[in-house]
Amino acid sequence: MKIKLGLLYGGKSAEHEVSLLTARAVSQAINFDKYEVYPIFITKTGEWRKGNALIGPAKSVEKLQFGEGVSKPNSITSFLPVEGSSNDVALAKRNSSLDVIFPLLHGPNGEDGTVQGLLEVLNLPYVGNGVLASAAGMDKVVMKQLFAQAGLKQVPYVHFIRKEWNNNQAALIQQMEESLTWPLFVKPANLGSSVGISKATNREELLKAVELAFKYDRKIIVEQGIVARELEISVLGNDEPRCSVAGEVLPTKDFYDYEAKYEDGTTNYAIPAIVSDGLLKKMQDAAIRAFKVLDCSGLVRADFFVTEEEEVIINEVNTMPGFTPISMYPKLWMESGLSYSELIEELITLAVERYEEKQ
Ligand code: ATP
Ligand code: MG
Ligand code: MG
Ligand code: MG
Repeated sequence: MKIKLGLLYGGKSAEHEVSLLTARAVSQAINFDKYEVYPIFITKTGEWRKGNALIGPAKSVEKLQFGEGVSKPNSITSFLPVEGSSNDVALAKRNSSLDVIFPLLHGPNGEDGTVQGLLEVLNLPYVGNGVLASAAGMDKVVMKQLFAQAGLKQVPYVHFIRKEWNNNQAALIQQMEESLTWPLFVKPANLGSSVGISKATNREELLKAVELAFKYDRKIIVEQGIVARELEISVLGNDEPRCSVAGEVLPTKDFYDYEAKYEDGTTNYAIPAIVSDGLLKKMQDAAIRAFKVLDCSGLVRADFFVTEEEEVIINEVNTMPGFTPISMYPKLWMESGLSYSELIEELITLAVERYEEKQ
């Protein structure tokens, strides 16, 4: 019997398009002798749609999304092929014909624990991080507070919510100027793919940057800019996670922004990165510490800044990192001897293991 795998993709976040690329890539790499794939597409407005089982790799995202037999369920549980009462959550698993879900969603409403919570309630095994790790990893402020607890080095930062900014703008700017040095990086607390992030080199740019970031979130983090190498480590596993080799991002423009990540092809990568054994070990140790303090499972990509003195500063982790075959996370595993298809397979196995351990 084939394993029925639900591919959950699209989503309401600003990273919707990135998710579509991932879904197509994953559907092309899946072993169709072993898996029957059910596309579950979330539109930009948050509607759920399910397609018929794919019997082979999807040639295009459109085929994945709007393949024959697409239905437009109105209730959240009806995305599962259920018999009987589709509104009874407790019945969903028993009646579900899906064995495991692979959420290929980035950003809020997907990478942040919300969808993970839904899948928990539906009692379905799913790939990747659980509710806590996803939620804590999505909020850069909460994540940094946990990292500090774990003794991980970070850049100095200031954070505030919209109300605080509106009421105390002058005081907040003063606090930033006193505790941080220019340039500053202004970020929505909850997002990814560099969406809403800007570098500010003076007050005027800071004001614009804050305004932009508030378009995406009510909470903002302003970090001290750092001149450093950008190195990344992939982590894979549940209770005994292991690390890949390091990769390096070499942006040729100001910083690694959305266009540099997905559109303009200006970024170079070194995979593997040229690093000493000592530095690699330091980053791997920090990546595992970050994985554990957030109670991660499945996968995480840990992003570091490394100074000239080889000080390892953690920038963030991504609990659902870019996952196309040319993305850093899978590429680092390929370099470490695990193919894209093998990686998908291992993640599904880890999902089922974690689920069974909880039963
Ligand atoms: P993703 O989830 O796609 O990795 P993100 O949206 O979570 O990205 P960050 O990784 O925090 O965003 O930042 C995006 C990029 O901005 C970094 O890769 C780096 O190039 C630059 N950057 C972010 N913070 C700093 C900083 N404090 N100093 C220097 N550069 C920074
Ligand atoms: Mg991120
Ligand atoms: Mg991200
Ligand atoms: Mg990043």
